[in-house]
Amino acid sequence: MARISKLLDFAIKYYGEYPDFAVAAVRTAQRISMKYRVKLPTALKRKFCRKCYTPFTGASTFTVRIRSGRTRHVAVKCLKCGYVRRYQFRVKNKPPSEGSRVIGVGQHS
Ligand SMILES: [Zn+2]
Repeated sequence: MARISKLLDFAIKYYGEYPDFAVAAVRTAQRISMKYRVKLPTALKRKFCRKCYTPFTGASTFTVRIRSGRTRHVAVKCLKCGYVRRYQFRVKNKPPSEGSRVIGVGQHS
């Protein structure tokens, strides 16, 4: 697991200098995750294009658009291959339970 994130870190770091290496590193990371049947953490998955494995390093590799309508989602577009991936917003809005209000936060000092 540590190896996968290391590979992705490497890919993101060196994409500017060695794009081919970076893409290869992402591919390897993907392969390792499949081999060991471990799912890539969502945070890591979002760091590269699922189609062409280009690491999302900066504004030159992807664009992000936030759409808020009935379903809020983020559209991440890979500028390399044009693949658009949409992510649902997971807003963790726990309804405030009555009687358990947090007291003491933001107290005057
Ligand atoms: Zn792509």
